[in-house]
Amino acid sequence: METWKKELQTSITDRASLEAEISLTEEERNFFSTEGQGSLMLRIPRRYLELIDPDAGRTDPIRIQAVPTASEHNSLGSESSDPLCEDAWSLTDRLIRRYRSRAVFLANDQCAMYCRHCFRRRFAGDGGKSASVEDIRSAAERLVQEPEVRELLISGGDPLLLSDQRLDEMLGLFSAAREDLVFRIGTRVPVTLPSRINEELLRVLSHWAAKHPLYIMTQFNHPRELDQQAQAALSQLYQAGVLLYNQTVLLSGVNDRVETLEELFNRLVANRVKPYYLFQGDLACGTSHLRTPLSRCIELEDELRGRLSGLAMPHVAVDLPQGGGKVPLFSLRLIEQRDGSYLFRNIEGREFWYHDRM
Ligand SMILES: *Cc1c(COP(=O)(O)O)cnc(C)c1O
Ligand code: SF4
Repeated sequence: METWKKELQTSITDRASLEAEISLTEEERNFFSTEGQGSLMLRIPRRYLELIDPDAGRTDPIRIQAVPTASEHNSLGSESSDPLCEDAWSLTDRLIRRYRSRAVFLANDQCAMYCRHCFRRRFAGDGGKSASVEDIRSAAERLVQEPEVRELLISGGDPLLLSDQRLDEMLGLFSAAREDLVFRIGTRVPVTLPSRINEELLRVLSHWAAKHPLYIMTQFNHPRELDQQAQAALSQLYQAGVLLYNQTVLLSGVNDRVETLEELFNRLVANRVKPYYLFQGDLACGTSHLRTPLSRCIELEDELRGRLSGLAMPHVAVDLPQGGGKVPLFSLRLIEQRDGSYLFRNIEGREFWYHDRM
């Protein structure tokens, strides 16, 4: 059996094996005593568990992402199991088109780790299985009728938990239907299960990356996740001809300090990964304890802009509930505007006029 499959099989999926590795807090233990609405499966690969500092208790940023607490059973009225209303925007069972120029294909419901902040918890690990060849074919046929869709976001779950053959077949079917498509694969395996980035997978990816622009969107949320193994996986992906981007989720107690995000984004750039988005946490059921106030997200955007290069600075955005879509967040730098004159506040807080014609 391949190493990554073995690692997946031996990952932590129940209370007993978790307690054998780390001593749980009461809040964490209580997660297992009630089964609440919107509860997400438990799975932590041992590799990810090893990144946890057991002495840090509940303050550990890796632990917060991986180990559930009873707070997950509390849902606010504003929260939903489908906060982005993706079901309402679906063209086929697994094809979501929210925006004119891009569509999302849900390739697989499985993930190497179930992130406690997951916004797609209505789908991830729910037993919906991986896309069948029929599902892929019907999505591919539909994309022929939607020529305005230029980018296909292959997501899930985690598409890189598909077998090499199925992934190859899927990219082949999409490619045959639309030779002009740009592929974007959303995956957390470089973080959670870097052993998945093996030679066979790299062969498949480099084959398709030669035919279609192939972007891999990872999700690093904390600098400690960028250990040697993860860095090696990123370097191999880069050498296979893949373009690397990262989407970070802002998480309370994990990365809501400006120094943490600054280090994360600089280290990503140093590993040839462009920080693409920093997202305010979505209003997903049972995630309020992991969310920061929206005002904090806007503040961080401002602080980060003063510290980071344009290359290291991601778009900071919130995905609006009820399917409103993404909107960028920033504090207003344009203070006043009249008769072709504009007053701006710069990074240091000083004010400057810009005159169109004067
Ligand atoms: C985020 C998202 C996209 C991609 O948006 P970009 O701004 O191009 O990254 C596409 N479809 C859906 C449904 C999304 O949520
Ligand atoms: S990898 Fe993505 S889809 Fe899977 S649990 Fe984490 S956030 Fe959700």
